[in-house]
Amino acid sequence: MKLIDLSVPLDQRLPSYPGNAPLDLEPVKRLARGDSSNVSTLRMSAHAGTHVDAPRHFFDDAGGIEALPLDVLCGRARVVEVAATEAITADDLRRFNLSDEVRVLIKTSNSQLWGDPAFHKEYIGVGESAAQYLVERGIKLVGVDYLSVEPFKTPGAPTHHILLGAGTIVIEGLTVRVENPSGFFGDNRQRLESNFKANSGGVTRRNPDDGLHEELTVNGD
Ligand SMILES: [Zn+2]
Repeated sequence: MKLIDLSVPLDQRLPSYPGNAPLDLEPVKRLARGDSSNVSTLRMSAHAGTHVDAPRHFFDDAGGIEALPLDVLCGRARVVEVAATEAITADDLRRFNLSDEVRVLIKTSNSQLWGDPAFHKEYIGVGESAAQYLVERGIKLVGVDYLSVEPFKTPGAPTHHILLGAGTIVIEGLTVRVENPSGFFGDNRQRLESNFKANSGGVTRRNPDDGLHEELTVNGD
C-alpha cells in the first residue's frame, strides 16, 4: 500500500489563523551545547497546521478530541477536486458519486497556498449548503486544504455547526497534492499522536527539528 502524507510541516513558514498563537519551538536541551539530548518546548494553537476539530470546538457540552471514533479516522478516503473560486456549494459536490464514501478530502486551489507564511483569508471554504449536503450523504469525515473548513469569518459559523453538530469529523490544514505525492511520501518526519483531553482540537502530525521528546504547551480554546 502506498502511503501519501497530506500533512503540512510545522515550521516557521506555517501560517496561523488570525488570533491563534503562532508556532514557537524553544530549544531546552541541545546535544550541540553539551546536553544529554535534544529537547524542545513546543507552543502552538490546538488548531495549527494539519489538525482535527472536535465537536467541543463549537459545543461546550460535546466531546473533545479524545471522544472521536478512531475507526472513522482510519481507512480509505475519497479525494474530490473542486474548482470553486468562492465557497464550495452543494452543487460543486453533487457531480461526485459519494454514496459509498465515509471520508471525503476536498482538494481546492488552497493547497497551493502552503509555503507562504502569510494567512490568505480568500481561501476556499465549505459553504453551508455543501456542509448540509455532506451530512445528508452520510459522510463521517471531511478534510479541507486550508486552516478552516468555514469560509473566512462567516457569521455564526454555520459550516462548523452543521458538520460538528452531526458528529462529522473535520480535518483542517491538509495539503492535498495528490498529483505529486513523492514530496510527501517516505520522508523521515516523526509521527506524534496526540490526545489533548478536553481540548477543542489536536495536532495530527508535526515536523520536529530534533528528537522525539518535545513538551507540548497548547492554548486550549
Ligand atoms: Zn480547527
